[in-house]
Amino acid sequence: MPIEFEAPKPILQTQFILKTVADEMMRPRSRYFDEHEHEIPWDYIEFMHLAMKASSGSSLAPRENGTRKMDGEKEKHPSIGYQLIATQIESLAYGDLGMYHCLPGGALGAAAVHAAGTPEQKEKFLARFKDDKPTFAAMCITEAGAGSDNSAIRTRAVLDEKTNEWVINGEKIFVTGGDKSFSEYEKLGKGFIVVWATIDPSAGRAGMRAFVVEGGTPGVKIVRLEHKLGIRVSDTAAISLVDVRVPSDHLLGSPVVVERSTSGFKGAMATFDATRPLVAASGIGVARAALEFLKEKLAENGVQIRYGLPRQKLSNIEREVIDMEIMLKSAWLMVIKATWMADNKKPNALEASMSKVKSGDVATKITQKVVEILGPLGYSREFLAEKWMRDAKITDIYEGTGQINRLVVARQILGYSGSELR
Ligand SMILES: Cc1cc2nc3c(=O)[nH]c(=O)nc-3n(C[C@H](O)[C@H](O)[C@H](O)COP(=O)(O)OP(=O)(O)OC[C@H]3O[C@@H](n4cnc5c(N)ncnc54)[C@H](O)[C@@H]3O)c2cc1C
Repeated sequence: MPIEFEAPKPILQTQFILKTVADEMMRPRSRYFDEHEHEIPWDYIEFMHLAMKASSGSSLAPRENGTRKMDGEKEKHPSIGYQLIATQIESLAYGDLGMYHCLPGGALGAAAVHAAGTPEQKEKFLARFKDDKPTFAAMCITEAGAGSDNSAIRTRAVLDEKTNEWVINGEKIFVTGGDKSFSEYEKLGKGFIVVWATIDPSAGRAGMRAFVVEGGTPGVKIVRLEHKLGIRVSDTAAISLVDVRVPSDHLLGSPVVVERSTSGFKGAMATFDATRPLVAASGIGVARAALEFLKEKLAENGVQIRYGLPRQKLSNIEREVIDMEIMLKSAWLMVIKATWMADNKKPNALEASMSKVKSGDVATKITQKVVEILGPLGYSREFLAEKWMRDAKITDIYEGTGQINRLVVARQILGYSGSELR
């Protein structure tokens, strides 16, 4: 099946609509929420919730069959579910990467249910995102000492056979949207966090399982919200779990530990195969914002990019801009390939990590270069260029750092396992 380079109509429509959202709802608030860290952008959340309900659904999660309704019509196969989500995320991150993280919906939490849950669990846990109130979910895998190597997690889940409940104890850090997913806010629906824990520490990766912990469950505490370099409007929570009890069917997938099988860990990896290209898309959105701003400022100063001239006839600035445009386009094509593979149910671990590596690099380099070329204008808080530079770096860190995703790529190409190449 060939990759189609002409964007389908729903994608073009999405880009058009979300450009207005980015320009009208997000950009004017970017600086305010950067300077008022942890304040919740309620009007944006409520607007986006209503807008998503009125259009294609109530969250950016793909439909179970990978198709989405646009214009009231059902998409014909082949599915473009993930490609459409990537486009939406790129467009929203172009508006503001931090505010994109405040978009109601299941985010990584729902992605984990999608990747590791049974059909009944998907039905049970994902329906809430269509409710009347905006609702959030988050995923907690990272712990102190267990980030890149998340098989080293120490959070423990033990089955209490008398009550048929799992009892979870541990500490999680850097949970995106953890507060909005777990704490009770009058304006929000009841969310959940997906907690990765081991049910058998001696089994290593085979013992890892994900548990849905409903908002408000006793024993869970939001310990703090991190103060960050960028995406400061996005809440990033540290969470402690002390004797947290969840029903046995809140374990996603199978509780049976098969020795040396990595089935539990595979649930985490399947989540990342779906979400890494989407993080890549978000990095591209920020980079595009910076690059377009640079071109605007150059044009205001009489510098037009003369496309089509031989390279040696171009000015240095023109060459720099064109090189950045090439970087951006090639990164986007990798996102399209990885999401196209996901849409067509092809294994995409290699392409997902490649797209994440490429985009993390491109977003970091372009936003930094834009600040550099703009000089004082780039460094000043009068404009958003310096903020985009701070925001962009996270796309090279979360959901596998650039280094870790390079390792994944190398393992996939060379045929090594995680223990053979680390
Ligand atoms: C704002 C923010 C939001 C986040 N959101 C979430 C979330 O929602 N849920 C969640 O579970 N986690 C989340 N994280 C955690 C994030 O995924 C981890 O920080 C990331 O995976 C890195 O893990 P670490 O922090 O343990 O760093 P470390 O693993 O200690 O890495 C430190 C450095 O060492 C490098 N390194 C590590 N191992 C190797 C290796 N084998 N080879 C080469 N280099 C290596 C890394 O690339 C990195 O540069 C978030 C983090 C941040 C900052």
